[in-house]
Amino acid sequence: MRIVLLGPPGAGKGTQAKLLEKRLQIPHVASGDLLRMAVSNRTALGLEAKRHMDEGALVPDELVLKLIDERLSQPDATDGFVMDGFPRNLRQAAMLANLLKKHGGQRLDRVIVIEVPSDEIKKRISERRGREKRDDDVEDTVLIRLEVYAAATRPLLEYYAKLGLLAQVDGVGSPEQIQARIRSALDVADSAVKA
Ligand code: AMP
Repeated sequence: MRIVLLGPPGAGKGTQAKLLEKRLQIPHVASGDLLRMAVSNRTALGLEAKRHMDEGALVPDELVLKLIDERLSQPDATDGFVMDGFPRNLRQAAMLANLLKKHGGQRLDRVIVIEVPSDEIKKRISERRGREKRDDDVEDTVLIRLEVYAAATRPLLEYYAKLGLLAQVDGVGSPEQIQARIRSALDVADSAVKA
């Protein structure tokens, strides 16, 4: 199964993707993690990406696409994946469709958006800041990332809804509750595909 998770920063995409990875035995492909790895390995791509990440801005599409292409080329990703953080804008969505076509005519099965009100998001990110250190979790940067989500990423909801792929899931609740909602949205997709 090929799944994309969408949602604002702090919506719990990473947590939910890891639960799906375990449950469905498909790899979690997170563009943010791939970028942070490139940054810590001090590759040329990583150094270029870091400038944008530190500002809360999007990294140029081509750089992220390169990492995603490399990741999807690995054998564990041939039968499915749960993708988190990519695509981030309409251009990346088109790039992803092309990339999947290139990888043997693959297509997405479902796009899940985890919906969380912005006040709740701000609260969660400030709590995360206390737990794990991320260079981009400073307050101004978080606000910019929320704006980038609203302007660049939210249009993907309509794009995937038109393709009949979108399911909206309420992202307020415990991780287990949200996982149950996501799983039932995925089951609906299974029966819709079979019918
Ligand atoms: P994330 O871990 O998904 O919140 O991503 C952290 C940061 O990495 C973002 O604020 C962006 O700067 C960058 N990033 C992650 N995914 C993408 C993407 N698909 N396109 C552009 N930039 C990205």
